[in-house]
Amino acid sequence: MWYYDGCNYCKSKVEKKFETYDKDDGTSDVRDTQLYQCSNKDCNGKEVFPMSRFKIPVRVQDSTGTVTLTLFDHEAMKFVRKTAKELIQIQDEVMFSYTLHLLKSHVFIFIVMTHYIFFNIVIAN
Ligand SMILES: [Zn+2]
Repeated sequence: MWYYDGCNYCKSKVEKKFETYDKDDGTSDVRDTQLYQCSNKDCNGKEVFPMSRFKIPVRVQDSTGTVTLTLFDHEAMKFVRKTAKELIQIQDEVMFSYTLHLLKSHVFIFIVMTHYIFFNIVIAN
């Protein structure tokens, strides 16, 4: 995965929190409201919500060896020039239009996704 749901306060990972409540008939259920919890115990964020942030694993190799690094938001946006959220929207639109084209015509769209983030789109008649 090339992105994660980060805390709007401290950028640590956030997870969905499920809250249960007791019903009148004695059973319990999970509330429908979506609550999020920051994984950072020192985070003082109130009303935490998730923001999609880059977390791109990069393998760097030279003649002496290979090292795996991680590009986070600040570094990744320098060359991607879009936010993770914007890229996710583009990806969703591409997948949607891909499905439409398959249904409506004989246009072929090839989506090539390499390891984590980069994709090329080639449209051929
Ligand atoms: Zn936090």
